[in-house]
Amino acid sequence: MPVPPSPTPRAASIWFDGELVPWNDARVHVLSHVLHYGSSVFEGIRCYATADGPAVFRLREHIDRMMFSARVLRLEMPFDRETLIEACLASVRENGFDACYIRPLAFRGAGAMGVLPKGCPTHVIVAAWEWGAYLGDEGMQQGIDVGVSSYNKVAPNTFLALAKIGGAYVTASLAKQEAVRHGYAEGILLDTEGRAAEGTGENLFAMLDGRLVTPPLGHSVLGGITRRSVIRLAEDRGIPVVEQTLSREALLLAEELFFTGTAAEITPIRSVDGLPVGAGRPGPVTRQLQDDFFAVVRGETPDRHGWLTRVQPLAAPAD
Ligand code: PMP
Repeated sequence: MPVPPSPTPRAASIWFDGELVPWNDARVHVLSHVLHYGSSVFEGIRCYATADGPAVFRLREHIDRMMFSARVLRLEMPFDRETLIEACLASVRENGFDACYIRPLAFRGAGAMGVLPKGCPTHVIVAAWEWGAYLGDEGMQQGIDVGVSSYNKVAPNTFLALAKIGGAYVTASLAKQEAVRHGYAEGILLDTEGRAAEGTGENLFAMLDGRLVTPPLGHSVLGGITRRSVIRLAEDRGIPVVEQTLSREALLLAEELFFTGTAAEITPIRSVDGLPVGAGRPGPVTRQLQDDFFAVVRGETPDRHGWLTRVQPLAAPAD
């Protein structure tokens, strides 16, 4: 069967088990364990254009989280951390991107059938493609409309929310489709206790009584790297930050609300279930943190926290 033309995304090559292969040659067998049972771990990483060339945001932290997710899934990783870091840099460099999204993914391939993974080799890919504002440029400026989802985040004894495992995104995908069906840009999932947890691919922050509040780790949320960065940027500005339970009511009381994530960056939320958040437009703290975040990632302010990894250009051929 001919390979259908790739829709966007698209790039020249994908790093696949240690080699860069042409985009259309990065294929798997249909009996791969991952296709049947969701046995993958992955990351989403952004590379930004700076005056000194492309720079990857918090690359090491992302690869460390991927290693942790693999450990949780008991997935044997055939490549070490440094090799994966290099693979990410190669995927940017070799495809000639200034700015892009990077997707490392490790998954169980074909072996014995059945949920017990027996003889299923781990494969690893790193793809990269150009990806603008995930929730839209307008959403980034004006804020997005969201709805509380009818789907809950997994209970802590069902699945480990701190690991970024493929199978977990079935719920995320259902919640996202529901949100879009209802005319929202994104959904907020509650945990099984009814507390606000996070978006389908974003952590959640609220300004409440002059403090920035986000649900703690262990409350069915992913330990977002943007979340961690925003907490740091807020502290740098002297904004009090607390990690505590965010009730569903708090979503309606909040002066400001926003999502954070690699894809979503810092996206303001302007309404929840049709009710405006604050004045119904991004508030001053959200704006300040957006400004600070984009100044760092674009290399416009000094990289005080060591968050950027430069993508060294290919060496010029010797004369
Ligand atoms: N929660 C979920 C469920 C996610 O998929 C993501 C995206 N990785 C996030 C939060 C945000 O995490 P990060 O800032 O590390 O991208």
